[in-house]
Amino acid sequence: MILLLLILFHWYASLFFQSFFHHRYAAHGLFVMSKGWEKFFYVCCFITQGSSYISANSYGIMHRLHHAHTDDADDPHSPLNSPGFLATMWQTRNSYHDIFKGKTVVEDKYRANLPEWKAFDKIAHNWITRLVWIAIYVSLYIYFATAWWMFLFLPFTIAIGSVQGAAVNWWAHKFGYENYKMDNTSKNILPFDVLFWGEAYHNNHHKNPSRPNNAVKWFEFDAAYFVMLVMHKLHIIRIKKLQPQLATVVGASEGVALNRV
Ligand SMILES: [Zn+2]
Ligand SMILES: [Zn+2]
Repeated sequence: MILLLLILFHWYASLFFQSFFHHRYAAHGLFVMSKGWEKFFYVCCFITQGSSYISANSYGIMHRLHHAHTDDADDPHSPLNSPGFLATMWQTRNSYHDIFKGKTVVEDKYRANLPEWKAFDKIAHNWITRLVWIAIYVSLYIYFATAWWMFLFLPFTIAIGSVQGAAVNWWAHKFGYENYKMDNTSKNILPFDVLFWGEAYHNNHHKNPSRPNNAVKWFEFDAAYFVMLVMHKLHIIRIKKLQPQLATVVGASEGVALNRV
């Protein structure tokens, strides 16, 4: 039971920081924060993503390329180019590694204003560190597992960040509903997003990538946006285009000052 709760916690914690830091902060620059908080969130990503930690800088470039080339031949991950969940995951992995290793020629505009902490990535991104994380996961499984089938979750735990990235990138370009007719395959995968911290509203997001709140309809709820509002109120981040929805609930306003570096 404890192990299943840990797996559940790991899912939400890992995906929150991927959505908050990698996607909304690095790739889209929806809010700003001080360099000190940026480093704090780098560490949070490392702790929660562990063996599947990815560089926010390389992710940011890859994701901007996805928005610029959605579903065409240069899309770094598209079910149209690589059908099947695992094929999309593999294409994403290869695209990411080519960007990280500098093998992909990328225009400067895709590199602008991305966070970068090379010294930290050097430690967090290498294979020895990943193996240490895997050893920690195996130890936790051995200690807490009460049935053999629980070990079936172990590969998922090891690759959690990649699985979550592929889940959104594949599922949200295959199945779901559309609030907007687009010239791409983006879909909203869940009407009430209890799994993906608001990332399920991918059709809404493709329609307006600079909108901090991915929810549009009355029944949609973007949980990561809600957390962002609380952080805005607490002066941890400053949302650039604050929207009225939910902002009054937490008392967040445009006038909140932030100590920026
Ligand atoms: Zn997409
Ligand atoms: Zn995006």
